[in-house]
Amino acid sequence: MATSVAKKRKYIDGYINYGFTSILADGIEKPQCVLCFKVLGKDSMRPSKLKHHLMTIHPQYAERDTCFFRRHERSLGKQKLDESGAFQQQTVSVVEASYEVSLEIAKQKKPHTIGETLIKPCALKMVKRVLGEASERKIQQISLSNDTVKRRINEMSDGIKEKVIQIKLSPTGMFAIQLDESTGVSSCAQLLVFVRYVFLCDIKEE
Ligand SMILES: [Zn+2]
Repeated sequence: MATSVAKKRKYIDGYINYGFTSILADGIEKPQCVLCFKVLGKDSMRPSKLKHHLMTIHPQYAERDTCFFRRHERSLGKQKLDESGAFQQQTVSVVEASYEVSLEIAKQKKPHTIGETLIKPCALKMVKRVLGEASERKIQQISLSNDTVKRRINEMSDGIKEKVIQIKLSPTGMFAIQLDESTGVSSCAQLLVFVRYVFLCDIKEE
């Protein structure tokens, strides 16, 4: 049977209703889920595939409106790839890893230097032994220096403080909070916190 060149599928604005935005990876437009950030293959750029992902992975959000998905798309904005494609994705994951480790260091109340003196050297050894040198080089890019860890912890703490102050400053001081847990494709449990409050005579939801 003769195979024809696969029809080039392009992103359509309406796909946001299935929870998908588009991402440019290696110059190819691919659908990316705004809920779990998973990037599907370019062949999945069609309503049936996108809907399937939404219904099977995130059934609890299947009935949400466009605004809901747009909001998630905006928060994804930072992580979205631009023309430079994979490079930025790599950079983003390297920075995210640095934040994640910094958070663990803070939670365990360990000195900031533990990142560069123990955690990173151990991670490099483990990754090199189990996954090889190419992976080791990737891990090498994760910055865990004393200064970086300190800065990341301060940033995260400032971010939380800012949010709390913003909510407390609301004239009524009234707010509603909703918590949920969802399990992503990587089988990682994620805590979802929604807070709705009055700010400058406007109801805000984050
Ligand atoms: Zn998803």
